Amino acid sequence: MKIAVIGSGIGGLAAAIRLTLKGHHVTVFEKNPTPGGKLAQLKVGDFRFDTGPSLFTLPQLVEELFELCGEKMDTLLPCQRLENNCKYFFADDTEFNFYHDKNKLKSEIESKTTEKASTVLKRLSQSEEVYNLNAPVFVFSTFHNFSNFITKPYIKAFLNLHKLNFAKTMHAANSNDFSDKRIVQLFDRYATYNGSNPYKAPATLNMIAHLENNIGAFFPEKGMYAMVESLYDLAIKKGVQFRFNSLVTEIIVENKKATGIKIENHTENFDVIVSDSDSKHLANNMLNHPLRKRLNKAEPSSSALIFYWGINRTFPKMELHNILFSNDYESEFKKIFEEKTLSDDPTVYVFISSKLVKSDAPKGSENWFVMINAPSNSGQNWETLMLEARKNIILKINKTLSVDIEKHIVNEHIASPLSIEKNTLSTNGSLYGSSSNSMFSAFMRHPNWLKNIDNLYFVGGSVHPGGGIPLCLSSAKIITQEIPDANE
Ligand code: FAD
Repeated sequence: MKIAVIGSGIGGLAAAIRLTLKGHHVTVFEKNPTPGGKLAQLKVGDFRFDTGPSLFTLPQLVEELFELCGEKMDTLLPCQRLENNCKYFFADDTEFNFYHDKNKLKSEIESKTTEKASTVLKRLSQSEEVYNLNAPVFVFSTFHNFSNFITKPYIKAFLNLHKLNFAKTMHAANSNDFSDKRIVQLFDRYATYNGSNPYKAPATLNMIAHLENNIGAFFPEKGMYAMVESLYDLAIKKGVQFRFNSLVTEIIVENKKATGIKIENHTENFDVIVSDSDSKHLANNMLNHPLRKRLNKAEPSSSALIFYWGINRTFPKMELHNILFSNDYESEFKKIFEEKTLSDDPTVYVFISSKLVKSDAPKGSENWFVMINAPSNSGQNWETLMLEARKNIILKINKTLSVDIEKHIVNEHIASPLSIEKNTLSTNGSLYGSSSNSMFSAFMRHPNWLKNIDNLYFVGGSVHPGGGIPLCLSSAKIITQEIPDANE
């Protein structure tokens, strides 16, 4: 069959590879001149920045793509597991390393917090248990396929619904289980991994901690964009065609079947169409379908303000991933999700890839990706918010590191919800499609196909199972299982 994939984000790349391996002729249409979507890079002078994702979990999903193609991930995308998943700087000056090694973690908890190490380790085991129950149902398959309901994993999850903790919020579960407020804040933060609010998101999402802390946080030896480069090379090798600078403006539907796409002012016919485009963008711009109403009602995930700074010195105290926590997390999330603005005391994430990829910054320098969570765009004055945020971020960094960081910034590039939307067509700059701020969010997410339009499939961070690299890869696997082999 002739298959069009709209968008070369990680979901689109994975779908293209999988469908080519099934014997189909796959063409990827991408509006940008390069592949990757949110997984992009920026070069400024001698500094290189990964501009989007920085945390790589569940690498086995990428490994599976290499193996299907008869290749080895170790050779084409060598990665390392981090010893320190993230360094946390709390408002009370505590510095806490979340080590992968459980013994090192235990001593860190005992020496730096008032929490019992056994409580944290118990929580990590519970996260694993919830993940093992939940993932086969909510991550690696779709409940939009009713035959799945009578399979073993679904029955097992159903029988253990009480363990999935849908009815409590993440924060309620964390403050119930932990006595040290810093540990509560640390575990609450996992809600932001899919752009959600821990004071609203269901405690089921506490399973996210399992991915980073039990399985591990990984990093490609050449940086995050190497993942796109290696998958793009793999796709080309397997015969996928790419058409860059090609904006798809419409999906053509005739007699309840998708039959082709419009690329600017011409039409091309295809047997199957796979969209890796943001589902709200698709519904509002490319497809005439009533799903628009439901999608537009869904609460968007958070967005971000990001400062990419070339820094002319090094900071041995900092790790690859660093969090400088705010003093009042609840008010920070209220500002973002209810008032749709920024806190004066934002939690600051600093990612420094040059800690591991030495070529990402000149000798004696570092490349800082400095990000705060922000609401998605709803017409705020981003110019003013950005200036305020920059001032508050600098204050926090200066206090935490006893430095005048502004003196060390040798170049700067800024991303906002507006630029994120412009570059990736993610509606209003949401990083992860819709938020998971309700116990029903997982059920309300856009499905991987529609009942009343044949030959049209959806992958990527705004559709089931959700945002983040692993879930996008899973969406590609889910839809590929529904599309027959070329010789069937
Ligand atoms: P996208 O990356 O959204 O790309 C879609 C592509 O399709 C784009 O290239 C776009 O140009 C193209 N396109 C769309 N519509 C059309 C059209 N009509 N015609 C032609 N082309 C079109 N995830 C993690 O796992 N870990 C992290 O640490 C992490 N951090 C993040 C930080 C930031 C700043 C951002 C922005 C995201 C982060 N994420 C993270 C989320 C992760 O990046 C996304 O979930 C994932 O990359 C989305 O992939 P996707 O397949 O949905 O495609």
